[in-house]
Amino acid sequence: MKILVINCGSSSIKYQLFDMERTAALASGLVERIGEAEGRITHHRLTGAHPRTVTLDAPIADHHAGLTRMADLIMDPEVGVIAAPVELAAIGHRVVHGGERFSASTIIDDEVIDAIQALSPFAPLHNPPNLAGIRVARKLFPRAVQVAVFDTAYHQTLPAAAYRYAIPTEFYEEHGIRVYGFHGTSHHYVARLAARHLDIPFNHFNAITLHLGNGASMAAVENGRSVDTSMGFTPLAGLIMGTRSGDLDPAVVYFMGTRLGFSFEEIDRILNKESGLLGLCGVNDLRDIERRREAGDAAATLALDMYAYRIKKYIGAYIAALGRVDALVFTAGVGENSLLVRELVCTGLDLLGVTLDAEKNATAARGQLSEIQAADSRVKVLVAPTNEELEIANQTLAVVRKT
Ligand code: AMP
Repeated sequence: MKILVINCGSSSIKYQLFDMERTAALASGLVERIGEAEGRITHHRLTGAHPRTVTLDAPIADHHAGLTRMADLIMDPEVGVIAAPVELAAIGHRVVHGGERFSASTIIDDEVIDAIQALSPFAPLHNPPNLAGIRVARKLFPRAVQVAVFDTAYHQTLPAAAYRYAIPTEFYEEHGIRVYGFHGTSHHYVARLAARHLDIPFNHFNAITLHLGNGASMAAVENGRSVDTSMGFTPLAGLIMGTRSGDLDPAVVYFMGTRLGFSFEEIDRILNKESGLLGLCGVNDLRDIERRREAGDAAATLALDMYAYRIKKYIGAYIAALGRVDALVFTAGVGENSLLVRELVCTGLDLLGVTLDAEKNATAARGQLSEIQAADSRVKVLVAPTNEELEIANQTLAVVRKT
């Protein structure tokens, strides 16, 4: 059975086509700069005796044009991996916001499309392009089952004590203002991977998962279910990220608006795009920050210290929330690759049962699940490669099998 996974952003489309019998990715690609003067498509055929990459530079007017090109490439006699649309059993779409309506992946029909549309005010930059992808994919592949996999769904098990904000109840009841949480697909995937590795049944597994990429969030997982998470009503809350501030006294927004004269749009841009590591030291790529710290740069050193300190505080909070923790699970670009961040985060947590083995931390193999805790650490510390596309494909398959 072949499943295509599509992740439509505002100006890009990522795709990956899986053979589910072999759990193998057959093709993947990226459509970039949609709607701009110069567009680009990079397509990889990953299977066969001769894996191949093709790059096409041409303007891509909209998502329809981008997905049509993608469809041509995956069915191309030279670089394609299927011969006709009917070979695709299903398409899994990443949808960022599923609100309270969607606590699991679901088959897409007209009513689901309307519901995703209705949730667009909660994710105005994400849900509309996600929907554009769904609409075009239904036309291009009418026989494939279309499935929506939501970034928020895994966190729908949060108890009210964790998801409510202490503002007047009507803001929740009438306007849906609460913690939703994001990166759910990744938290769920690495939590299951870790439980399987440690041979603990998932419904008895307690963990703290740390998705540290350019966007970053943590989740407290109790008996396999998410019970708290650091992102909130939007992805702006929680950890310090590449360009997002993370947690902030909300009165700062009021002050910026009333005293400093910034508009809501400007404040939104500052907090989402100009803050975080970028705002603190001028760059947001952690590799650059590590190099600058190494060279003695004070701003980079402070940025990294603040970044790690925030994560550490959340670990303490989630250990308190969970009581028992089987594992800390580091994942995503920074979590999988930065031994310095893992070291800064875990140093001083011995009393909480977390002790790193410096050697194992330094030699954790990229792309593989590794244990990096010391022999006497009560809590296991894992580095786990996330794979959101594969998780979307797996969930799509599960939905298809149920029908
Ligand atoms: P992601 O959003 O998961 O793709 O993660 C992207 C981030 O991972 C980049 O901004 C980098 O800061 C970080 N990253 C990737 N590779 C490394 C590395 N070898 N060391 C430190 N950070 C890395």
